[in-house]
Amino acid sequence: MEPNGILIFAQLDEKYNVTSVTEELLSKARKLKEKIWNQRIMTCVIGPRMNYEEIINNLSLYGCDEVVIVNDDRLKEYNKTYYSEIFVRIAKKYPPRIILIGATKEGKEIAAYTSTKLETGLTADCTDLDIGENNLLLSTRPTFGGKLTANILCKTFPQMATVQQNVFKAEKIYDGNINVIFEWENLDTIENKIEIINKSKNNFSFNDITKSEIIVAGGNGACKENGFALIYELAQKLNASIAGSRIAFEKGYITKSQQVGQTGKIVAPKVYIAIGISGADQHLTGIKNSGKIIAVNKDKNAPIFKYADVGIVGDLFTILPELINRFNIDKEEQNEQ
Ligand SMILES: Cc1cc2nc3c(=O)[nH]c(=O)nc-3n(C[C@H](O)[C@H](O)[C@H](O)COP(=O)(O)OP(=O)(O)OC[C@H]3O[C@@H](n4cnc5c(N)ncnc54)[C@H](O)[C@@H]3O)c2cc1C
Repeated sequence: MEPNGILIFAQLDEKYNVTSVTEELLSKARKLKEKIWNQRIMTCVIGPRMNYEEIINNLSLYGCDEVVIVNDDRLKEYNKTYYSEIFVRIAKKYPPRIILIGATKEGKEIAAYTSTKLETGLTADCTDLDIGENNLLLSTRPTFGGKLTANILCKTFPQMATVQQNVFKAEKIYDGNINVIFEWENLDTIENKIEIINKSKNNFSFNDITKSEIIVAGGNGACKENGFALIYELAQKLNASIAGSRIAFEKGYITKSQQVGQTGKIVAPKVYIAIGISGADQHLTGIKNSGKIIAVNKDKNAPIFKYADVGIVGDLFTILPELINRFNIDKEEQNEQ
């Protein structure tokens, strides 16, 4: 069968809703489709047996032409071996020209497995996608530690790319025409290498920083003394989420899911407060969709100030207690009124 169209792995959240990265990829796929004539946009949904109506409606709202659903109760929870192999089988049955997958933890695993099995290239963490010469997918991503941008033209099919959440905009189209195919895959023919014995919750419950309206982020400058304790206190006052740079992650002050940047999360809050963060390109990649950026740094030449809407030059160990105190005073004044 001739490769046709764009295949997207439809990621669902724990309540089986279509995730925003899937909607974003569909919206981008529609723009790519306008340039490659007569191609379909197909999504593959993997999950347990349930009512798929809402998922199908949502996919069609974002421009999906065809959805292939593989359902089995053993697929209730994400399982790398089942999900990856099923996706590969669907990609073989309905060979696409292009495969797009959200660069989430699960998405990255599925993408790596799929590219190996299909013996094709994979461009990870793309920052843009377009159609280039000979109708080939042109993937853009930062390279050489973010100093250069590479345009990559993979010449084997399917051409594969992963993209993080918040890189593209999700746009509804409301035309609602979608073809639904239920595929049965015999899970007994897949060697399951994973057994979930127990599930335990992380002691810390952090907000999803990709959905937060206010983020207080700490960098290397805050990785000493009570720097991060001050960041937590300020975040609490502002009802904000806590994030940080890669160095803050490497030094153990935040979890990987709180790291912002090229190899972390791409965020789009209304306000991003960067404390003791220099503003390396790899970090800036993750914050460029923020509404306003406020930076606190003791070095007036720190690169972050070039991108900040509000810059405070000074020692965070002096500035943060003052800011936190200011909120306490405001609260006392409010209580007195
Ligand atoms: C392939 C690759 C991928 C990468 N991916 C990421 C990524 O996803 N995210 C990411 O963040 N980085 C990433 N990096 C690392 C990146 O290049 C930087 O090294 C990192 O962002 C620097 O973190 P920082 O700003 O916290 O630390 P630093 O660069 O050390 O900056 C610390 C800042 O704190 C200031 N400071 C120090 N003390 C104080 C104080 N008392 N008060 C106020 N300010 C103070 C300093 O002036 C300085 O500007 C990546 C690198 C590579 C090569």
